[in-house]
Amino acid sequence: MTTLANSFSSTSNAVAIVVPGPPKLEITYKQLQADIKTFQHKLAKLGISPGAAVSIALPNSYPFIVAFLAASWQRGIAAPLNSAYKQSEFEFYIDDLSSALVLVPQGQSDGPAVKAARRYNAAVAECYLHPQTHEVVLDVKDAGKLAGKGNVRVEEAQPEDTALVLHTSGTTGRPKAVPLSHRNLTRTIHNIINTYQLTPADRTMLVMPLFHVHGLLAGFLAPLGSGGSVIVPGAFSASTFWTHFTEHGANWYTAVPTMHQILLVNKNLWPQPMPNIRFIRSCSSPLSPKVFHELEKAFHAPVLEAYAMTEAAHQMTSNPLPPAKRKPGSVGIGQGVEVKILDQAGNEVAQGSEAEICIRGPNVTKGYINNDKANAESFTAGGFFRTGDQGKKDEDGYVIITGRIKELINKGGEKISPIELDNVLVQHPSIAEAVSFAIPDELYGQDVGVAVVPKKDGKSVKEEDVKEYMREKVAKFKVPKRVFFTDVMPKTATGKIQRRMVADAMLKSDA
Ligand code: ATP
Ligand code: MG
Repeated sequence: MTTLANSFSSTSNAVAIVVPGPPKLEITYKQLQADIKTFQHKLAKLGISPGAAVSIALPNSYPFIVAFLAASWQRGIAAPLNSAYKQSEFEFYIDDLSSALVLVPQGQSDGPAVKAARRYNAAVAECYLHPQTHEVVLDVKDAGKLAGKGNVRVEEAQPEDTALVLHTSGTTGRPKAVPLSHRNLTRTIHNIINTYQLTPADRTMLVMPLFHVHGLLAGFLAPLGSGGSVIVPGAFSASTFWTHFTEHGANWYTAVPTMHQILLVNKNLWPQPMPNIRFIRSCSSPLSPKVFHELEKAFHAPVLEAYAMTEAAHQMTSNPLPPAKRKPGSVGIGQGVEVKILDQAGNEVAQGSEAEICIRGPNVTKGYINNDKANAESFTAGGFFRTGDQGKKDEDGYVIITGRIKELINKGGEKISPIELDNVLVQHPSIAEAVSFAIPDELYGQDVGVAVVPKKDGKSVKEEDVKEYMREKVAKFKVPKRVFFTDVMPKTATGKIQRRMVADAMLKSDA
């Protein structure tokens, strides 16, 4: 199993994909195979040859799935993009990859993705489900640079071919282009199947977007690789989540903490009785121990927090299934991936000490595209990849992330972990959400600022109350200097907290 094509070689009549619709679709593995092959022939006819980048600006849908797999089978590079981007964002990504083809939904041929594609002379095609035949249509609107280059060979992907390029989320700087080979992806698929013991009897509901590794690998490719079924309802919606989940017999899901929290607070939508959930996976952002306990109690399922990044083709560590121990506040243990806590010189630190989390394994990218500087900084002499995250291992070898190295608050040389402060703040009875960050300080260089979303039904809190509370809970130097109140916490499209973005918004509102 070293290419995506041989990961899904099943031609059985088991259900691979369920789209609640309308139109409702139940696609068997056999049908999926046939649809991918047909689409691959269409791509070859249009001129997609090895190494050509196919930007997929489609929402979570069956056409996305077929286009993605067909592009990679054809030895092209699938490059999923958030279909909600503005033109300038599309331009950045299309230019960065020199995309040969941009796929857009039906009726969007004058939308921002298409304008961006035309600017860089990429071909443009609408890609959608035929309303009667349910065939995935490739309706070419503009051949762009592929004009006259059509009718190429139908290819067979090789393990070292780049199957996918995604950009990092850009949390700590400009997004970096990460090439992931068939070997990288199939290794992660294998690791995720092993971690959660996925079988053909499992059914998951895909709520994460397919334009990031979380949705793509954990929500979609790994469950398919195990022969299970994936329910594809489109974008995440709290109001339909449980209806689809119960109606289509899902037994697990993976999501970011923000989504778990939304499901938790919407108690009126919880199904009665709660369906049997084998496990709930949380990844991509820190899950506070408080939310961990609330989730387990509300949904009667073990919550398994995992740790992932684009460069690792998603998963690096995860808490294991019961009966093994899962630990709130920890991201668990390496899952088919070596994890070491290394100092700047590349030496392993003593157990319990904090330093940079570094990883090694066949899932890890060979290096960023056109970014020698980042590549030189990212790999140690021993071939470990530096994640940029700070953390430690506990006595059982479980990894605890203490922050991003770039986001640590450096108060006069004293490093303060913003995650630690967030976790304490949300235990305050009147605080719903909290994000800590560095603010400029004349004396210390940096000091602690926090943005707080008060609970709607809680007692009102003032700046001094928050400081008083923190004085009781943490060392004096970690007590926030400034507390900002806001009704909504600024987040990225995927629900990530960018501490810099929150800080800028708070400091701006203050000016
Ligand atoms: P950029 O690299 O461009 O700054 P990014 O690191 O946010 O952006 P991603 O690859 O999407 O881009 O995210 C990986 C990062 O997400 C990890 O390095 C880590 O900081 C964070 N992360 C992932 N899972 C967890 C988790 N369970 N708890 C805390 N942080 C997590
Ligand atoms: Mg990163």
